[in-house]
Amino acid sequence: MAEAIDRHELWANLGMDLETHDVLCSVLPQAFGDVYLSQENRPEGMAFWDMVVADVHGIRPQELVDAQAEGRKVFGTFCTYVPDEVAIACNGIVTGLCGGSQFWVPEGEKYLPADMCPLIKASLGARMGKTCPFFRIADQIVGETTCDGKKKMYEIMAKDVPMHIMELPHQKRPKDVEYFADEIALFGKNVEEVTGVELTEENLHDAIVLINERRKALARVYETRKNADVIPISGTDALLMMQIAFFDDPARCTQMANSLADELEQRIADGVSVFPAGTKRILITGTPMAIPNWKLHHIVETSGAAIVCEENCTGTKFFTNLVDEGPTDFAGMYQALAERYMKINCACFTPNEARIDEVIQLAKDYHVDGVINTNLKFCTTFKTEAPALEKALEDAGIPVLDIETDYTDNDAEQLRTRVGAFIEMLG
Ligand code: SF4
Ligand code: SF4
Repeated sequence: MAEAIDRHELWANLGMDLETHDVLCSVLPQAFGDVYLSQENRPEGMAFWDMVVADVHGIRPQELVDAQAEGRKVFGTFCTYVPDEVAIACNGIVTGLCGGSQFWVPEGEKYLPADMCPLIKASLGARMGKTCPFFRIADQIVGETTCDGKKKMYEIMAKDVPMHIMELPHQKRPKDVEYFADEIALFGKNVEEVTGVELTEENLHDAIVLINERRKALARVYETRKNADVIPISGTDALLMMQIAFFDDPARCTQMANSLADELEQRIADGVSVFPAGTKRILITGTPMAIPNWKLHHIVETSGAAIVCEENCTGTKFFTNLVDEGPTDFAGMYQALAERYMKINCACFTPNEARIDEVIQLAKDYHVDGVINTNLKFCTTFKTEAPALEKALEDAGIPVLDIETDYTDNDAEQLRTRVGAFIEMLG
């Protein structure tokens, strides 16, 4: 691996707390090495994502700062309901900001109750503690009214950085979809103000096509994971690709995912599997796994099973369903965007039974032996719908393990024991 570039000047210019950030920089390579570089027979295409993560607070942040110097604006988001297309249409750049490390949680707890989900605490902690360059770079944060914890966190963050909140309906009736189409139009106004670039029917349509291409490329990678005989990529590697998709340039993400898919398809043709024949296949569902949260994947895949699908926002929810490219006028495109985004089955919706159907369908499509339903501690929406989901899976004859965890390693051994017993039970 090439020698790391010293990024301290970049970080100092962003007003970061260098001393505290250095502590994070000293633990991440070790964590990455333990989880990723210890894997065998990885696809060669993963070298791109390894390179990005090896300099995760350097390569992309430098690109963003360079783009800002040319007058472009950066939008930070926390949710798969926020339509990237609108910001991209006006030459904006979108970067995901969800915090996935325990490192940021104590700082977040200075502002938030301790009994709040770690993703929310880590996200606020990363902003307030000045220890994440992406948070320093974002010109505009785009929040959304999904779960209560995020809504209240945004109020605090809004005192520190410009914030636009999108109102997300919590039902999926036709009038809710129409309402969200109006919200997308309002977001368009915000994007025009921030970027100084006019939103046109042409640039919005181009952005719709661009993001659809990203969805198709990521879906191609997932498609290879459905193969019942060959598992061409570990779940741990697929997760990394998805996590980085949230902040990479969309065209590059499409290109790299497509070339990875080419390699994986060839692996299937050649019978090259990362895991031995007969390895138990697991689908993960539940709360998102923001970078660098690799905890559960690492435990599962070093306990003798393979993860072949993630039904969450750092998985299928990010790319499933395309935006209809047919409409070319504003009203039609806003409606098409709203229809696509409102198909995401998040637990903040009521009812959310479509998620149950989706998980069961995915379990069949990916030929899984068992499902692990994972919940970030204190995420009440996902936790509340867990029993109904798990009962439906059991009724469908699909074994399921329920796990609640956080970003610490305190429960790692206990999880390893439970996951090991579950895999053994799968036979
Ligand atoms: S789990 Fe729900 S609130 Fe969280 S990122 Fe996904 S869609 Fe948004
Ligand atoms: S995991 Fe749950 S509590 Fe945390 S941000 Fe997502 S929906 Fe909200």
